[in-house]
Amino acid sequence: MQSKTRVLIVGGGFGGVFTARHLSKLGGKNLEIVLISDTNYFVFQPLLPEVAAGTINAQDAVTPLRALLPNVRVRLGEVTGADFPARTVQILQGRRRIPQELPYDHLIIASGQITNLAMFPGFEHHSMTMRTLADAFRLRNHVINCLELADVTRYRTIKRQALSFVVAGGGFSGVETIGEMVEMVHKALRFYPNVRKDELSFVLVQRGERILPEMPKRLSRYAQQHLSRCGVEIRLHTGIRSATVNGVRLESGELIPTMTAVTTIGNGPSAFVDRLRLPMSRGKINVTRQLHVAGYDNIWALGDTALIPLSDGSDPPYAPPTAQATVREARLLACNLVASLHGSAEHAFKYHSKGMLASLGNYTGVAQIAGMTFTGLFAWLLWRAMYIGMLPGCSTRLRVALNWLFDYFVPRTIVQIGLPSGGGTRYAHYDAGDLLFAKGEVVQGLAVIVSGAVELRRRDEEGEPYCRHYHAGEFFGAKMIDNNNMTTGEVTAIEDSVVLFLKPDDFNRLRDSIPAVRDFVGR
Ligand SMILES: Cc1cc2nc3c(=O)[nH]c(=O)nc-3n(C[C@H](O)[C@H](O)[C@H](O)COP(=O)(O)OP(=O)(O)OC[C@H]3O[C@@H](n4cnc5c(N)ncnc54)[C@H](O)[C@@H]3O)c2cc1C
Repeated sequence: MQSKTRVLIVGGGFGGVFTARHLSKLGGKNLEIVLISDTNYFVFQPLLPEVAAGTINAQDAVTPLRALLPNVRVRLGEVTGADFPARTVQILQGRRRIPQELPYDHLIIASGQITNLAMFPGFEHHSMTMRTLADAFRLRNHVINCLELADVTRYRTIKRQALSFVVAGGGFSGVETIGEMVEMVHKALRFYPNVRKDELSFVLVQRGERILPEMPKRLSRYAQQHLSRCGVEIRLHTGIRSATVNGVRLESGELIPTMTAVTTIGNGPSAFVDRLRLPMSRGKINVTRQLHVAGYDNIWALGDTALIPLSDGSDPPYAPPTAQATVREARLLACNLVASLHGSAEHAFKYHSKGMLASLGNYTGVAQIAGMTFTGLFAWLLWRAMYIGMLPGCSTRLRVALNWLFDYFVPRTIVQIGLPSGGGTRYAHYDAGDLLFAKGEVVQGLAVIVSGAVELRRRDEEGEPYCRHYHAGEFFGAKMIDNNNMTTGEVTAIEDSVVLFLKPDDFNRLRDSIPAVRDFVGR
């Protein structure tokens, strides 16, 4: 019996989910489709600003991948690398994140992009992004926290910082994020008697000459006028330089005092994509118009992570990083992959935008569809109709529609669900004989023996067996953290023990900033 062709898809976003759906229809029983995602749900990113604004509940904006893809094997895990000659990918999964190798015949990379905050000093620690469900959830809670603080503080500077909200980036996600934030804060004000509307400040920072540059000038102008009327100060031709606890510093040197900086710029490749060492330009993987990764017949890429050339001389020269384009790439990729298995002709990707829509908050939007432009309430309704149509799964559509309906009639909640921070350390209890970890696992951090004793067994540099006992007050793990964060031996508790783990990132921060720690544990 002929074995099935194994297709591995990395990423459970628009690219991964829609490709898997088309493949499971086209490929029938001849394909074994495995989709690996680091979350077990699909998130409709265009709705994230509404989640951040509390219009839609976080849980209602997402759909479980297993419900969306009944004929696909869904695996929760993080893909960390690939061995192209061996046709395998490396994946971390499970509670102990034990590395596994998964074989493939065809590999599809649909892992999107990340927001690279390292580009701007301080932004990693003092700004938020708007890309995942957690980002939207965090922003919503943070904004409510700022209002609570502003309501009780006696200090003018603190109040000013708490009531100032800055968004960097005037593209779709930046504009939609600030529009929703304005609406949310204004609607919440009636619960905060000590906060006046004229004390609020919203700033949208855009390097270019207009916001929503992808849209016709008329719509950009309309969006700008609408946001200004709602109290947003739009800073055009302005770059951001850095962020501190006190605010956002612009390239001009001016400081905007704020506790809330949201970044929607600086998109770049994830560490996983960087590690693949595939041909890349503009931070994306170079692919052919048939969606093969340049130079590979059985590796494909699509969506935000892929640089897809459109026909010669077209404007834009590459497929845009939008959900709309990605969904169409997914259909083509599935057809081409099946065609390649049958030895049939593959087709080139062609793209004509069906239209562009943006919500500006306060029941107002801008839209360009079939060459016509719309503004105001009608454009906003079009925006909602189009996105409800794009949402995968009937139950998600229904839940989002009900959320919208409730939002119209019922006041938004200002409940602040602050998740307790896990901290950088944790205690773990072991009975004598319990395994702390085996060789080749992802290291949990620097381990300090609080009580009891553990035994390390490994091979030394000469390959000889090596054994060492660690007792209360002793620690180990620094070398493993340096060694690619992988364990080099097996550690077992030889007495009932309590071990304190300090996360690798936190340990590295301490070691990098406190010379005494560095001298004590070594580098
Ligand atoms: C706030 C916001 C608003 C937007 N609004 C619009 C809009 O109005 N209209 C529009 O057309 N587009 C919009 N977009 C753009 C659109 O959402 C993206 O173009 C689209 O999501 C790209 O799909 P993708 O599959 O390439 O990536 P994503 O949707 O980002 O999916 C990537 C997936 O891969 C997973 N992943 C990443 N790395 C790994 C790994 N190593 N192992 C396992 N899984 C991994 C991620 O968790 C994620 O699930 C918006 C984007 C944002 C952020």
